[in-house]
Amino acid sequence: MPKLRIDADLHRAPISDLPAETLAELARSIKREGCRDPIVVWKNHDIILDGCNRYAICEKAGIGYRTVSIDLPDRDAARGWILAAQYGRRNWNAEQRGIALGELLMLRKKAAGANLPKPPDGEKTGEKPNDLLKRKNCALGGKTAAAIAQEHGVATRTVELGEELLLAVNALAEAAPDLPAQLAAHKGPKRKTIIEAAKHADDPEKAKAILAGTPEPEKSTSPTDHFGNPLPKNLIEVFSRRNELAKMMTTLSLIKTTITRGCESHDPLYLHVTKTQMEGSLGQARSHLRFASPYAVCPYCRGSGGIGKNCKLCKGNGWLGVYAYGLVATELKYVEPK
Ligand SMILES: [Zn+2]
Repeated sequence: MPKLRIDADLHRAPISDLPAETLAELARSIKREGCRDPIVVWKNHDIILDGCNRYAICEKAGIGYRTVSIDLPDRDAARGWILAAQYGRRNWNAEQRGIALGELLMLRKKAAGANLPKPPDGEKTGEKPNDLLKRKNCALGGKTAAAIAQEHGVATRTVELGEELLLAVNALAEAAPDLPAQLAAHKGPKRKTIIEAAKHADDPEKAKAILAGTPEPEKSTSPTDHFGNPLPKNLIEVFSRRNELAKMMTTLSLIKTTITRGCESHDPLYLHVTKTQMEGSLGQARSHLRFASPYAVCPYCRGSGGIGKNCKLCKGNGWLGVYAYGLVATELKYVEPK
């Protein structure tokens, strides 16, 4: 029989090494009872798909083993097979599971995408080839995620969140090339931190600081407006409630995403929803809320509302949203710091 090979790249993170104690126990068990489970080998490649540790122990101790061959078309298929087999091993944590599901989804989409029919001529359908592909990928992604979710007994959303995490890890390849290995060794940051860091992937220093959990510089405890100007007492409450508007903006974005996804995947429920119109309206509502949120202490009356509350700029309220603030003459846009 040809000599078997362990291909480290196919077994890369999120697949992790067995903990030393488990490995030692495996070696003891094999020496005592022999290697009961066959080593799984990629047919015609002599690359081990499952059983790298058992193989190494048997070779070292001169113990015989059986093999089973599996026929797979290419490296992506081999990687997918290994990930699926390794998924959810006892010692895996949430991040490892997520990344594995995400990679399975991407591999599956890639394989299915290669078999997609060529998009028809754009001029005939009025749909640009790119849009068509995007739409197909979107529909495909949803179905594929659901299939993977079912195979591994998780929710479809879990698979999609896994893909999101994997994309974040990939985006951080420059700032944190060791991140996948760290996660596989259970030494990495949590999902939330990784997603947050990925937003700053183009600023590796900042991304690194977030991953390292370096706290943001202490913000002063006294509440301020957008420019760091301290708030007068009468404005503290209204500024502290900015979050209420921010939450609604987030909700609007979520609705927009849901509708886009529903329409693009041709979900029958969204048959009569006009995507462009809805996107436009929701986007408008969102920016309206953004412009209307408490933004700056009125630079004219310095937040007092003016004598007799007659400040023309803020209409006696003492504060401005970003839209109203944008209209203020530049020379007025300075509030003396305390
Ligand atoms: Zn004013």
